[in-house]
Amino acid sequence: MNNIPTNFPLFGQTITVQFFDDLVNKKNALGLCHYMANEIHLQSPNEEFCVEQIEQTFWHEYSHMIFWKAGFQKLADKEKLIDVFGSLLHQSIMAIHDNLNERNGTGEREDEDYYEELEDDEEDASEITDDELMKLAS
Ligand SMILES: [Zn+2]
Repeated sequence: MNNIPTNFPLFGQTITVQFFDDLVNKKNALGLCHYMANEIHLQSPNEEFCVEQIEQTFWHEYSHMIFWKAGFQKLADKEKLIDVFGSLLHQSIMAIHDNLNERNGTGEREDEDYYEELEDDEEDASEITDDELMKLAS
């Protein structure tokens, strides 16, 4: 599994992300950004290129796309800027993703405990026999 979306919205348009087994061989690139087609093409991860490398490439191509679509076409061609910007986005978003998963995971566990306690109370109540009820009532 990877942390790359199959598509994402940008300025009211949908950008699709497609994987190719032979992108490196055919285009000599791990990723390509097709501005007019609203597509990002990525090399599929394999023995040579690991998932993290392709995720970083996604964020690189994503950065090309947002600069270009935002109207900064000249900046979209500055490879060094795009690479640093994409790497920072990659690092930051993965850290935020982990942080939210950690927080939400804890929240879910707390909720589950709460509902389990409620169910336990219901079970206890239903296990009280008529004799016990009479004793409690007296
Ligand atoms: Zn590039």
